[in-house]
Amino acid sequence: MGGSGIASADPVPDEGADALAERAAELLAEIIRIPTVNPPGGEAPLAARLVEILSEAGIEARVIATPSKPPDPSRRLDDGGPGRAARAAAWARLPGTGRGRPVVLLSHIDVVPADPSEWTVPPFAGEIRDGFVIGRGALDAKGVAVTHLMTMLQLRDRNPPLDRDVIFLATPDEEAGGRDGAGYLARERRELLGDAEFLLTEGGSIRLGEAGAPPVWGVAVTEKSPCWLEIQTVGTPGHSAAPHPDAAVPRLVAALDRVRRMQTPIRVTPQVEEMFAALAPLAAEEDRDGYRNLAAALDRDPEFRRRFLGNRGRNALVRDTISITVLEGGPRTNVAPLEALAHLDVRLLPGKRCEDFSALLAEEIGDPAVRLRPLLSFPSRSSPTDTALYRTLERVAAEIDPGAAVVPRMITGFTDAHWFRELGIVAYGFVPRRLAAGDTRGVHGVDEKVSVDNLAWSVRTLVRILEEL
Ligand SMILES: [Zn+2]
Repeated sequence: MGGSGIASADPVPDEGADALAERAAELLAEIIRIPTVNPPGGEAPLAARLVEILSEAGIEARVIATPSKPPDPSRRLDDGGPGRAARAAAWARLPGTGRGRPVVLLSHIDVVPADPSEWTVPPFAGEIRDGFVIGRGALDAKGVAVTHLMTMLQLRDRNPPLDRDVIFLATPDEEAGGRDGAGYLARERRELLGDAEFLLTEGGSIRLGEAGAPPVWGVAVTEKSPCWLEIQTVGTPGHSAAPHPDAAVPRLVAALDRVRRMQTPIRVTPQVEEMFAALAPLAAEEDRDGYRNLAAALDRDPEFRRRFLGNRGRNALVRDTISITVLEGGPRTNVAPLEALAHLDVRLLPGKRCEDFSALLAEEIGDPAVRLRPLLSFPSRSSPTDTALYRTLERVAAEIDPGAAVVPRMITGFTDAHWFRELGIVAYGFVPRRLAAGDTRGVHGVDEKVSVDNLAWSVRTLVRILEEL
């Protein structure tokens, strides 16, 4: 297979392509209808359905129970029980010849909420309309689970088998940080991963070029590190008709005002330097040199710097960012509360520690009565690009998408990839889906959808990637 250099982007022969597209679309529509909004998740029925399909196809598959809420150290394995939202992951394995180490296909099956009043179709009805599957999870990430599951079915009858085992893993709880999903499995059920060398999950896709520009295969190799903090002030409570200079809310507002004005320094990490160097040939003429030497250009070229930082996404790639999100004060107009609090969503560049950043914030705030408490943090990890899997992605891109650039990316959000990078597994955020600029708007937004063609194409392309790996 391969090497034909056809421009039609047809990854495998088209036999049965329509049937594949139809089956993938129907499966996605079906699982959008199985409720898994997190919290509470309640992913067990969906995990069971995926395992049923895989088992019926003769593939070794199991439902893996995962911790259910509330987190209680004395009941680590909670089977749900009456009235509780049982949680579980779906796991399956296609054996290879053993000549190579396993590759894991990781997706998550929980979703964020959707407000039906904002959508043009009901978000949990799983509608197929005008060539699209529409509904919460179509992209993030039930659509990924379907791509991975259909890939398993396509590879099942392959003779000879692949060199590597392919392990399917669809987990709960990603949208709440993954501690009770992928995090639990990586910590407590490592045997399910075998001695996996590679993992593919969400976080990157194929961005279609505009106005004749070539497509970009964006492969997420690292993520910024979340450092979520609670900031709390305690003041003198009482009737607010005679204000106390020491009240909690004004004190918090003063602290937040200092936080809001903080300017974090610009720092170009090696991963980001590499990312923009790879993007340089595709950049607008005026930006090409800057992309090639990003750190130097940001330092010396004020015009370039202004253009670059003027884009929020790019700005977040070269500095630590702080967003003030949650805010809590008093419940009544005429009562000064004892305490007030806010949450900060801080995202750090690789190499920075949350404790250090928190200390820096405390210093900047300069009020000893203000307390900072960590809510969630983990260090950033990177996967290298000098691997067989990365080279395979480059080769397949060159074969089916001539002119496409494969770009190693840092993403500003986080996925479950870090749990596996911590185990030493090379984890890339990459799902072979072809998306135009506006296509990802539905992720965590309204009218989330994926085209049926895209779904089938992603399966055929992933099959091809695994065959060539
Ligand atoms: Zn997701």
